[in-house]
Amino acid sequence: MKVGVLALQGDVSEHISMLVSTLDDMGISGSAFELRKPEQLGTIDALLIPGGESTAISKQMKRSGLWDAIISFAENDAPIMGTCAGCILLAREVFGDEGLEGEETLALMDITVKRNAFGRQRESFERPLSIKNVDGEFPGIFIRAPAITKIGKGIEILAEIPESIVMVRQNNIMALTFHPELAGDNRVHRHFLEMV
Ligand code: GLN
Repeated sequence: MKVGVLALQGDVSEHISMLVSTLDDMGISGSAFELRKPEQLGTIDALLIPGGESTAISKQMKRSGLWDAIISFAENDAPIMGTCAGCILLAREVFGDEGLEGEETLALMDITVKRNAFGRQRESFERPLSIKNVDGEFPGIFIRAPAITKIGKGIEILAEIPESIVMVRQNNIMALTFHPELAGDNRVHRHFLEMV
């Protein structure tokens, strides 16, 4: 199994180490590596879009030709997981402090998100999460996190906290507003690899 981590900006190496150890734990032979070029999408089974700065990642995706290539990859039902900034990039509609944002997204999921939804005083926080299909609590680490504020019909909620929905799935695509690569717990990555 080959898993690409979009490596334009953000938490790339943390996801790669987590994926490598998860493949190992699952007894699957495979690899996880940095993906920077559109042609690499033809060689992978699943794509992870990491957290970082969504505006920086989207600019570079356009420049590199990855924008259209990722949309075609998703249309072929290939599994994708987007975390934090990755979740913003997958959303159909994005709000910021000033209302609806003009920044274009991949719009692969029928969800609305609000960027930096938890304000300055709570830029980062940790919360135990109960996630569908994952036994027990999962440590949710939120860093300048977005909130999923609205979901369309085909969206399944996998986790939520009182303030917002934090993890969703639509067919082959999963989006989460927290950072599982920093949790010291590979059960979210395992769940993703089970989709392949
Ligand atoms: N605040 C970032 C954004 O709007 C997302 C933060 C993150 O990925 N940790 O893109």
